[in-house]
Amino acid sequence: MINENTLAENIRSIKARIEQAAASCGRNSSAITIVGATKTVPVETIHAAFLSGINHFGENYVQEAKSKKDLLAKLEVKPTWHMIGHLQTNKVKNAVELFDAIETVNSVRLAETIAGKAIKKPMPIMLQVNITGETGKFGFAPKEVVNAYKTLKALPELSITGLMTIAPVLANQEEVRPFFRRLRQLRDSLGLHELSMGMTGDFEVAIQEGATIVRIGRALFGQRR
Ligand SMILES: *Cc1c(COP(=O)(O)O)cnc(C)c1O
Repeated sequence: MINENTLAENIRSIKARIEQAAASCGRNSSAITIVGATKTVPVETIHAAFLSGINHFGENYVQEAKSKKDLLAKLEVKPTWHMIGHLQTNKVKNAVELFDAIETVNSVRLAETIAGKAIKKPMPIMLQVNITGETGKFGFAPKEVVNAYKTLKALPELSITGLMTIAPVLANQEEVRPFFRRLRQLRDSLGLHELSMGMTGDFEVAIQEGATIVRIGRALFGQRR
């Protein structure tokens, strides 16, 4: 487990890098939310990160999120929870209870299931886009997302806040820039606000291309076990 000094230093360093990336393209860093990606990260570390100013966390698994959220709630620690992992339809009921936002909505059927089980109404969701078109990756094809949005925006139980993507891990950050740019153009064409893109290896480029949410794991919490 990462010690608290290292964690605090990582947070400072990430915030400085976000500041710099935003300044490099004339953006204000206050428009960028850091979501700590906390799969496998122990709850003590999440607690410490919260106390050091990270108040959004992303979890990939419903069960892991539930146990962490419950433990933190006992300590009066109530961050904003994002679902950033693949969500199966049979987990939707639990997910809508746990999460403040579901970023990984990748089919109309999944969105309709969320609408049907929503507790917070409207439930904030984002549409996940497979921006590279790689086979075997989750997400709407860029062409599909426009129609999906038209269908789903009619549902009063959902609030579609933006688009999310997981970029391929490439040796050179610059190689992902065109994908981020494409997602931004898609977002603009739908008139949405949020753009969740960028992780440890590529968040600076994502910010230059307009990311409003960066999901950062290893650069904050160290290598995952
Ligand atoms: C794990 C994960 C991240 C964070 O990745 P790092 O490379 O550790 O920053 C971001 N988004 C999703 C969807 C993840 O599963």
